Amino acid sequence: MLYIDPHIHMVSRTTDDYQRMALAGCVAITEPAFWAGFDRSSPQGFFDYFRQLTEFEPKRAANYGIQHYTWMCINPKEAEDIGLAREVMSFIPDFLKLPTVLGIGEIGLNKNSKNELIIFEEHVALAAHHEQLILVHTPHLEDKRKGTLLIMDALANNPAIEPGRVLIDHVEEHTVGMVLDRGFWAGMTLYPETKCTPQRAADIIETFGHERIWINSAGDWGPCDPLSVPKTQLEMKRRGHTPETISKISFGNPRNFLSQCSKFNVDG
Ligand SMILES: [Zn+2]
Repeated sequence: MLYIDPHIHMVSRTTDDYQRMALAGCVAITEPAFWAGFDRSSPQGFFDYFRQLTEFEPKRAANYGIQHYTWMCINPKEAEDIGLAREVMSFIPDFLKLPTVLGIGEIGLNKNSKNELIIFEEHVALAAHHEQLILVHTPHLEDKRKGTLLIMDALANNPAIEPGRVLIDHVEEHTVGMVLDRGFWAGMTLYPETKCTPQRAADIIETFGHERIWINSAGDWGPCDPLSVPKTQLEMKRRGHTPETISKISFGNPRNFLSQCSKFNVDG
């Protein structure tokens, strides 16, 4: 069955992963800008990373018939340095013009700090000014609920932002309901053992329904599974979900959300 992995960090993955994903039915991915595992020492480091996302990765993916799209931002962890963050943000508008850039992301909060929130709000304003989609990272573990509430309030404070054009990622059982209730899209990030497993994702779909929700691997340089989307398809099949529902979660829904940006063009 065809699928889209709408959140995966392929700069940290091997070419073999592209091949395995293609064999499992992956036809498109979107890669948000993120923290690469270490703090970059200058704005130039981000400039080169953005070039890698927009010039090199689309070619690597195309070798396996996978369409590669990306998102631009300075991630919340490195946004703690406001001066650095603003310098990086100054050249993001040029990248937003490129044909594979879908919007601003993954912005959000890491430690829910004051500086993170300032830069989050500036990214939201940048997205509003350039009419961009937004992909949001929510903090993990005990700060997730508090961080998700802070993020949704900050988004609501900007009247130019439509909730239907914002996806809030890494939702879990205790945050998915409030994200959907406020009109946002919700992303479930699948991990092999901890946090949201394919089994928990299937439970969440059975509890909260399958409107405005997608699944992704968020694969990066840490322990993760780039095949977790097809593994969740399999778990849903095992439980007796219809092919239509499985395809909706793993292909139709991400395609509908992402197609709000006219650059996203993936056939079903
Ligand atoms: Zn990510």
